[in-house]
Amino acid sequence: MTRKSHGPAFKKAAIELAQCPLCRGRSVTQGVFHELPCSHCHASGFVAAATGVAPALDELVTQLGMRLQAATRQIEQLRNPRASGPEATYQGSNRRGAGGTNYTGD
Ligand SMILES: [Zn+2]
Repeated sequence: MTRKSHGPAFKKAAIELAQCPLCRGRSVTQGVFHELPCSHCHASGFVAAATGVAPALDELVTQLGMRLQAATRQIEQLRNPRASGPEATYQGSNRRGAGGTNYTGD
């Protein structure tokens, strides 16, 4: 059997990311004439906080994806702070039923 002792984790662990020290999170560095993609952080602007080195590309993509999901969720929550709960829906339509004044225009 050539089975590895520990396979892939069931849940992907989030790596703490820090700003790339070389490009300062800008993803590019200033070359002589052009801005060049930063080679230190795979032009992502991020490195692993623990090591100071960017994770492998596939790992980096996963980490950035997780970050984006968390950020998107946060934005959604900030946009509708009380989207859930029965009170939220009550407030909007708090009119009493029909049968008001029988208004005739002419
Ligand atoms: Zn960089």
